[in-house]
Amino acid sequence: MATAPIDSDAHRAPRAVRLPSTGALADRFDRPLRDLRISITDRCNFRCVYCMPRAVFGPDYAFLDREQLLTFDEIERIARIAVGHGVRKLRLTGGEPLLRRGVEDLVARLAAIRTPDGTRLEIAMTTNGSALAVKAQALKDAGLDRLTVSIDSLDDELFQRMNDVRFPVARVLDGIDAAHAAGIGPIKLNMVVKRGLNDGEIERMAERFRGTPFTLRFIEYMDVGTSNGWALDDVVPAAEIVERIGARFPLDPIPAAVPGETARRWRYRDGGGQIGVISSVTDTFCGTCNRARISTEGKLFTCLFATEGHDLRALLRGGASDPELAAAMASIWGARDDRYSEERASLTPELRATRQRIEMSYIGG
Ligand code: SAM
Ligand code: SF4
Ligand code: SF4
Repeated sequence: MATAPIDSDAHRAPRAVRLPSTGALADRFDRPLRDLRISITDRCNFRCVYCMPRAVFGPDYAFLDREQLLTFDEIERIARIAVGHGVRKLRLTGGEPLLRRGVEDLVARLAAIRTPDGTRLEIAMTTNGSALAVKAQALKDAGLDRLTVSIDSLDDELFQRMNDVRFPVARVLDGIDAAHAAGIGPIKLNMVVKRGLNDGEIERMAERFRGTPFTLRFIEYMDVGTSNGWALDDVVPAAEIVERIGARFPLDPIPAAVPGETARRWRYRDGGGQIGVISSVTDTFCGTCNRARISTEGKLFTCLFATEGHDLRALLRGGASDPELAAAMASIWGARDDRYSEERASLTPELRATRQRIEMSYIGG
């Protein structure tokens, strides 16, 4: 499958550009490609214990050099081609995306892309919130629609222990307020729950964000990468989380709004808003998974747990044309048969341990 050549003169100011349709893609299980997550840096100013533990990501850790990262021109080009293939939502992530210099300019370029029928995309970002108080207005002005901010605890001592860089939770809360004041929305808050670490915070977090404009989502601690020492016993099942919150504040389930939704949503019966639970371990959702990920150095991953990516940067820098890039993406998606979360249960701990996995900070969440 090929696109007509795309006018990708990325040095000009962002402008709305229509793409010729290449037709939507379907993988081996008939899943379309809708959501592209782009990791724009592998670096982070936090060392969350479940993601970039200091023992692995210490002073000697070899992060990527600048020339290894995809440039904004390259990211924009991949995004345009992916949109021609059916992508309707772009999410910038990392590492910490707000650390990438000029991130607002990238948001503006991506926000200028139009689907074949002239519709705007949804531009989202996942961030630790540490720089939001400074960056929120610029991100809004650039065209950022949605934001997910990670916040794992309201207890400052525990929050600092989890980010392991002594970053105070109050500054993340200020950043969330700044984003809301700037008009970015919806804003979702992600809490990764690890048993014995922050599961004591579940009810307190629910109570704090009930009745606010923010939707709190509880994420089961996952076995991404190989550095966090994951064990099944560390996972607090989503059902337990819902039961605990429901005992305090009765909840009713909400049906999925769109196919491929990662979170199962619940509404407070008294009108206090809603919560989400992302049960990637105990109740998987591979069947509707329409997400692809681009790593910081331009590899296309068709699953968060993929062992290898497809090197789009080599194609980009090797002089591939837009139709060639589009054809490469189409054939990668067409061959996709990933469903790791569904298979996880059948893997023995030994098999799981020997399977190479990509770090979340490299591939993006
Ligand atoms: N630095 C940004 C942040 O923390 O929001 C973006 C990148 S981070 C890798 C994306 C999301 O992945 C965050 O919400 C983070 O909490 C989540 N995450 C990281 N490691 C995880 C794990 N082992 N299990 C579940 N979620 C994880
Ligand atoms: Fe950084 Fe986000 Fe990973 Fe925490 S979860 S270490 S903030 S990339
Ligand atoms: Fe999608 Fe892979 Fe996660 Fe399944 S395990 S939901 S295929 S990213």
